[in-house]
Amino acid sequence: MTSPLILRGLSKSYGGTRVVDGLDLELQAGRCHGLLGPNGAGKTTTLRLALGLIGADAGTVDLLGYPMPAQAALARRKVGVVPQIDSLDPDFTVRENLLTYGRYFGMKGREIEARIPYLLEFSGLAGKADAPINNLSGGMKRRLTLARALVNDPDLIFLDEPTTGLDPQARHLIWQGLRRLIGQGKTLLLTTHFMDEAERLCDVISVLDQGRVIVRGSPRELIQQHIEPHVVEIYGDGLTEWKACASNFCKRCETAGETLFCYTEAPDKVVEELESQPGLRYLHRPANLEDVFLKLTGRDLRD
Ligand code: ADP
Repeated sequence: MTSPLILRGLSKSYGGTRVVDGLDLELQAGRCHGLLGPNGAGKTTTLRLALGLIGADAGTVDLLGYPMPAQAALARRKVGVVPQIDSLDPDFTVRENLLTYGRYFGMKGREIEARIPYLLEFSGLAGKADAPINNLSGGMKRRLTLARALVNDPDLIFLDEPTTGLDPQARHLIWQGLRRLIGQGKTLLLTTHFMDEAERLCDVISVLDQGRVIVRGSPRELIQQHIEPHVVEIYGDGLTEWKACASNFCKRCETAGETLFCYTEAPDKVVEELESQPGLRYLHRPANLEDVFLKLTGRDLRD
């Protein structure tokens, strides 16, 4: 199957700084792709380039067979976009928002009306068709933004941090919707800061830093290839003293705030040592995508 989005050697600079730097990306149809990276890594700029909202300094973008940005208007009719910040019209009801948005795509009123019951059911907003936007909770607004992105029944959907700012219940509802879309064979390109979200939903993840893809693979591959399999998180009284000799039990340790992270192939040795330290508390768990992300991009704050 042809790829719905192909980026080749894509570069973009702002004020002399390359924020996207020779990026290559090819999405597989019917899969969920994650674009992860610290703040400023170039994720949103990549999405904007892919959608033809801005032009690249170098490289090419092929979106659904259309070169970007030359044929952006044609290509964008066939994709769905969930932007980082909701842009629903507060003066309109739920139904009116869907109608207005559908008209941007050249859809007829009747056509959109016919799709509204499905969109409301999909987003868990059945019964809310006539509710004003301001009466919706944050989670409902986010779900409506997702429903709105589906008004034209796109096969490719861009999602820029779809669950940022939502409570766990609302996030689970969005995940359910996204899994349903993946099950229907849609292609998703998702940026997120939630590693558990990426781990649950994505078939393939590209980790970006300074505008480049630094690693790519399935969540499982990334965990197997880039991190020790076990992590022991340690905190409490006496940590400083224990840390001084931690290298005897654990090859690689990192400190974040008041917690020491021991990454190891042999957690039993670490745990055995900790048993004789009554002041210390610990959590032994399998390594996850967040551990990989922090190892590859560092623990320093990026603002
Ligand atoms: P991310 O989405 O990974 O946080 P962005 O793509 O938003 O990263 O931004 C990458 C870098 O490009 C940041 O340093 C940001 O300040 C800069 N940048 C993005 N858009 C513009 C713009 N329109 N003008 C100037 N700088 C920009």
